[in-house]
Amino acid sequence: MRYVSTRGGMAPATFSDILLGGLAPDGGLTVPEAYPTVAPAELASWRGLSYPELAFAILQKFADDIPAADLRALMDHTYTVAAFRTEAITPVTPLLDGVWLLGLSNGPTLAFKDIALQLLGHLFEYALLQTSGHLNILGATSGDTGSSAEYAMRGKRGIRVFMLSPYQKMSRFQTAQMFSLQDPNIFNIAVRGVFDDCQDLVKAVSNDAEFKARYAIGTVNSINWARVAAQVVYYFKGWLAVTERDDQEVSFAVPSGNFGNICAGYIAKRMGLPIRRLILATNENNVLDEFFRTGVYRVRSTEQVAHTSSPSMDISKASNFERFIFDMVDRDPAVVRALWRQVDAQGYFDLSATPYFQTVRESGFVSGASTHQNRMNTIRRVYEESGIIIDTHTADGVKVGLDYREASVPLLCLETALPVKFEDSILEALGRPPECPAGYEHLEALPQRFEVMNPDVAAIKAYIARHAG
Ligand SMILES: *Cc1c(COP(=O)(O)O)cnc(C)c1O
Repeated sequence: MRYVSTRGGMAPATFSDILLGGLAPDGGLTVPEAYPTVAPAELASWRGLSYPELAFAILQKFADDIPAADLRALMDHTYTVAAFRTEAITPVTPLLDGVWLLGLSNGPTLAFKDIALQLLGHLFEYALLQTSGHLNILGATSGDTGSSAEYAMRGKRGIRVFMLSPYQKMSRFQTAQMFSLQDPNIFNIAVRGVFDDCQDLVKAVSNDAEFKARYAIGTVNSINWARVAAQVVYYFKGWLAVTERDDQEVSFAVPSGNFGNICAGYIAKRMGLPIRRLILATNENNVLDEFFRTGVYRVRSTEQVAHTSSPSMDISKASNFERFIFDMVDRDPAVVRALWRQVDAQGYFDLSATPYFQTVRESGFVSGASTHQNRMNTIRRVYEESGIIIDTHTADGVKVGLDYREASVPLLCLETALPVKFEDSILEALGRPPECPAGYEHLEALPQRFEVMNPDVAAIKAYIARHAG
């Protein structure tokens, strides 16, 4: 399996070559030269596999340059009951008639990003041990991604994490999650400012090529290919859990921001998984819903991004979208380059009058947007009918999923976080707080370890230089 860039300017590379990188050198995203396929007989043979076994069977197709025994060991060490609190890793629970919840939020930070990032932690450590290298991960977070990255990288040899967050602006739960980590390789930097200041600082440090190379600065953002590949696994796991016939179609409803999660669903479909519809749900920040309805991909400015009660989907653009568009334009990198040139210059592109939009319409995607009121109503309805409390992001997916439900097709709704992370919204919807999973009750009382700093590039660089591996 070799990987190329969506913009055509990268020599074909292996999985290990692209593992630690972010953008391709030409500014594009890395994608497989061709998707691996899973024949019906092979799919049928996967019934009964444990999560780590299934993950190995699928990841082996993408990471064929990692020795099989090593890859198997990585899966066994990642997808454990200790890390995910359940043998199934991604359990399926009946929600409504013909509708299931695919539980993706049982990892250490109680959100679906753990499924990919926990693997990334093990993969990075493995790759760095092979080369005796080290890596200093620099990131900015307003909550979820940062804590998921820290829990993935804590205690990993060769890796240090420098995570910038806005001082006193995250929820108490999120703050406690990150700042209570006592691992010596995790550095929490609380910046006197807002999230955008943190992001600007990361950009400023990363733009200093000499500093970046000297301190082996890396990232773990959502465009990392290994993250997408790891997410393909649970689409297969969900399908296997609710079907009996090997050609039975199911639909998936996915709350979407950066198009990372649902991109993996699209790839699973391309590999041969019988998926009928990929139902994409946005919140009020409806960049992707607009595209699937009209063919216009229009990014928003920072000021245009609404702060919603499903905050992990408050995006101005969808960073993984270029992978999908690459396929829709017949994998012609010249077309991709032209489209993103137009995004950079004019803030949008429009496929509606091109034959490519017909390809989009045939891709299996449908979409919708959900509002605060929709989320509240959906959380209430699901609770009344099933006794299950879902979080606000999951509720966006369920809302739009139900709009597109077909009677004879099982619908799997992806649960992207546990409700305890968004207690205020649950109180508003139900008048009662969500349950706190065992082990998380005293999180906010734990001692916290963090450094408060001004939004000063030189000071941040000096701090990294003092503590880098
Ligand atoms: C990140 C996140 C999403 C959006 O996932 P994308 O891969 O960015 O589309 C949805 N829900 C939760 C809880 C998240 O943390």
